[in-house]
Amino acid sequence: MTLTLMPPTTSDVRPEPPDRRPPADFDRLAARCVSPRAALAYDAEILDRVSWRDMADHGLWRLGVPTALGGDGGTWLDLAEALADVARGGGDLGFTLSLIAHAGFVRALVEHGTAWHHRTVLPSLLKGAVGATALTETQGGSDVARIQTRARADDDGWVLSGAKDHITNAPVADRALILARVPELGRRDITLFVVNLHSPGVRRGDPEQLLGLRTSPTGPLYLDDVRLPAEAVLGRPGDGLSTLYDIISFDRALYGLVAAAYLEPRLDEVVRYTQERHAFGSPIIDHQYVQGRLTDIRIAIEVSRALALAGIDALVRRDPQASLRCSVAKLLGSEGLVESAQNLMRLRGHLGYMRGDTTRDLQDALGTLIAGGTSEMQRKNILNQMLSNRER
Ligand SMILES: Cc1cc2nc3c(=O)[nH]c(=O)nc-3n(C[C@H](O)[C@H](O)[C@H](O)COP(=O)(O)OP(=O)(O)OC[C@H]3O[C@@H](n4cnc5c(N)ncnc54)[C@H](O)[C@@H]3O)c2cc1C
Repeated sequence: MTLTLMPPTTSDVRPEPPDRRPPADFDRLAARCVSPRAALAYDAEILDRVSWRDMADHGLWRLGVPTALGGDGGTWLDLAEALADVARGGGDLGFTLSLIAHAGFVRALVEHGTAWHHRTVLPSLLKGAVGATALTETQGGSDVARIQTRARADDDGWVLSGAKDHITNAPVADRALILARVPELGRRDITLFVVNLHSPGVRRGDPEQLLGLRTSPTGPLYLDDVRLPAEAVLGRPGDGLSTLYDIISFDRALYGLVAAAYLEPRLDEVVRYTQERHAFGSPIIDHQYVQGRLTDIRIAIEVSRALALAGIDALVRRDPQASLRCSVAKLLGSEGLVESAQNLMRLRGHLGYMRGDTTRDLQDALGTLIAGGTSEMQRKNILNQMLSNRER
């Protein structure tokens, strides 16, 4: 039988949207920029602002944003895949988590913002300003409904007072999404505000000293009668929690996608190591227990990636299962990352326990069990979503 290759018909050829620029290769860009700077940034415990600027200059933040709002007209999946590329090529989990915090803010503004947000806040976030999302307070992060930060309306807009803790990017961020109560609204009072962190009344505390993720500075924010314009509310006053659940769902799915991408080159390296290291007369990769650890890492990668993509796809389609799927992706992504980081260490024996890249991976991975909501909180959300989806 002879197969003839037919030229594509016009219906086979999908035209590029007119304003869409070809996306940069973020894997290679991160290998060139983020990776060589990661160790220095880690020792100095700082966000790598040079790489941050480079990512913005190459259009990272424009990827999921509609052209009418200054973006490239892609979907959130385009942005998610680019972030996975940065995790893979840059090999700096802290830097990638700082990017995730910013990504959630950008999406929040696009999906829930008004023309005012799109005109006055979004452009700077697309061009290299740093964003943060501030929910947690000293008295607790899991139960966000207990927050104490308050906003009151006055003639010119809002006055915000309170304090936030453990906020990714807070020591360096320019803008933040801040969760606060508006007591005059009554029982349903939790509201999201977009805040310029260079405003009078905003103070930052010292960066926190963490076990890992040292390239992702976290810290407190103090808000002393910070005056905000009336337009600063994101979503409707009193609807902060429901808007928030949509916003954090994207971040949660990104944790899963990034965990998988971060592990890929590490798995390649450790496979090579087990082929070269010998014990009992053969390379250690010949031993079944070693093979088990290697395949467990591969399974964690496959599971995390597939679940994260399912979560993001559900979010893009506004599927009612989106929040549940994103929590599943976060839960299995971060737990799989920690288990895999342990496997990477065990496979190298004593060398894996010596302070270096492998111990840093493990320390960094542990932070993902807490940031973005603990595994217990993901399970709680999964059950809540199961029950509410049944009622629909
Ligand atoms: C690296 C890092 C970055 C972070 N970045 C940010 C950020 O950008 N913005 C932000 O707002 N916050 C951020 N956080 C804070 C994080 O969201 C909170 O630490 C997290 O939500 C847990 O809150 P908590 O530490 O107050 O623990 P708690 O809420 O006090 O919980 C303590 C323990 O009790 C468990 N628990 C609580 N309630 C229940 C329950 N009902 N059922 C079962 N178990 C329960 C928890 O799972 C946890 O194991 C960050 C944290 C880390 C580590």
